[in-house]
Amino acid sequence: MANKMPREIAPGVFWLGDCLAQRHKGKIYHGYNAAFLVAGETASVLVETGHPKDFPVIERHLAELFARGLAPLKYLFVTHQETPHCGGLGRILKTHPDAILCGDVSDYHLAFPQYEHRMHWMKEGDEIDLGGRSLMAVEPVIRDLRTTWWGFDTRERVLFPGDGFAYSHYHEDGHCGLIAEEAVSLDLPDVSSTFADLALFWTKFADMNAYCDRLDHLIERLGVKTIAPTHGLPITDVNATVPKVLTGLKAAALMPESGTNEKVPLSGACAATPTI
Ligand SMILES: [Zn+2]
Ligand SMILES: [Zn+2]
Repeated sequence: MANKMPREIAPGVFWLGDCLAQRHKGKIYHGYNAAFLVAGETASVLVETGHPKDFPVIERHLAELFARGLAPLKYLFVTHQETPHCGGLGRILKTHPDAILCGDVSDYHLAFPQYEHRMHWMKEGDEIDLGGRSLMAVEPVIRDLRTTWWGFDTRERVLFPGDGFAYSHYHEDGHCGLIAEEAVSLDLPDVSSTFADLALFWTKFADMNAYCDRLDHLIERLGVKTIAPTHGLPITDVNATVPKVLTGLKAAALMPESGTNEKVPLSGACAATPTI
């Protein structure tokens, strides 16, 4: 399933990583804990570090891309301090000694004091220059932590929304490695609401209409053309696909929480630790 990756989802923007299997109500859902590489003329930035199970895959994807001659990795941008998003940052900073960690860098120096001088604070509107394009920190509408920032590629207008636009896909239907619009049998409202139920419990206690309006506002203000979620399939037709995801978020908010993951051992090639 990983043979489609790394996949270029917009010019110079590459999707890295692999699927993670998750059991829910007797079904096996697949999700991503993706990382993305944005290559400029003089520098590349890695957005997110991936899930620990995917570190070897992501290292291989990076090596493959840099062997093609992409600009060197000078920056790592992580949306927030949770393992599927930033768990590999020590490894990335070690293997790429010129790379600077960017974003809200609260607390990382406590785990990695040796890299404190390579941590760069960003706030909304701040940009890191990659040569011909930059990565900007933008409003994180859906956030797990108060330290969350979302990223935005100013040239191809790609939004990196971290935990926003999170949803799973069906391995059996061959969705692995597809963009959202290619996965035609995917019930986006259903998988979006399932993911919110499992991983974004606070959406049960918030007015999701206000969040969805804010998402629409952000997409319009930035002129977003592609959405590269950490836990969903990339969205390349914003007008057609975003309303389906928002329908799922609103539906999930109206249902009571159904509980945490089923603790059933997984088997087969795609089995992995059932965490989000
Ligand atoms: Zn997450
Ligand atoms: Zn998959």
